[in-house]
Amino acid sequence: MTTDLLRRAGQAVIDFALPARCPGCGTIVDTLDAFCVDCWQQVEWLGQGCASCGLPLEATDIETCARCMAQPPRIARIRAAVAYGDIARGIVLKLKYSRKVALSRTMARYMAPMLEAGADAILVPVPLHRGRLWQRGFNQSSLVARQLAKATGREARNDLLRRSRRTRPLKGMGASQRRREVARAFAVTHPEKVAGREIVLVDDVLTTGSTAEACARTLLRAGAARVQLLCFARVIRPWSLES
Ligand SMILES: [Zn+2]
Ligand SMILES: [Zn+2]
Repeated sequence: MTTDLLRRAGQAVIDFALPARCPGCGTIVDTLDAFCVDCWQQVEWLGQGCASCGLPLEATDIETCARCMAQPPRIARIRAAVAYGDIARGIVLKLKYSRKVALSRTMARYMAPMLEAGADAILVPVPLHRGRLWQRGFNQSSLVARQLAKATGREARNDLLRRSRRTRPLKGMGASQRRREVARAFAVTHPEKVAGREIVLVDDVLTTGSTAEACARTLLRAGAARVQLLCFARVIRPWSLES
């Protein structure tokens, strides 16, 4: 296992040392961690949207969508850089399963401008269960959070929130089933470090939001002042914030 870890660490160094390639198609590009023009145009960049949930506003909405006005969501602000399409999916899967760790820098590069948080806000990656962490060797969200910390001057901490219970894949479950599955799946390890603080949860992909919701609930219960969520990609479809 030790040699395996060393090999992975070596691979990480090599990934960072290679010439700049477009993270979408592999074409050599001038700028490190940036898309080529073609991929840039194919990616669906997400604007600001609702001040709270980040989803597109209706013509009748002012800053905040009607749903968030009616019931302020537990996650105060949600942002993602891009819509989850072919190029975004390719990047996310390559980071997760092919260990292309340099892609975490690409994600952070495009997420950084979406961050609006105090200078002392803490970036907290959505944790993996340690069983899955052991299988994969790393948590992709931790890598992204670390790169985002470098890009934005905020502190990243992957030791404040842990997954206390392994959850089944949420795909295919209904909203209430997903909520039950992830309820109490997380725990705050150092409540004194979370109390009164602004937390920005960091994840690679936002799908239903159930997992991030459960994380936010746990952090707020531990005394966090405010919880946001910043992701690289977001699945865009009719989707209700669960409460
Ligand atoms: Zn490209
Ligand atoms: Zn909203």
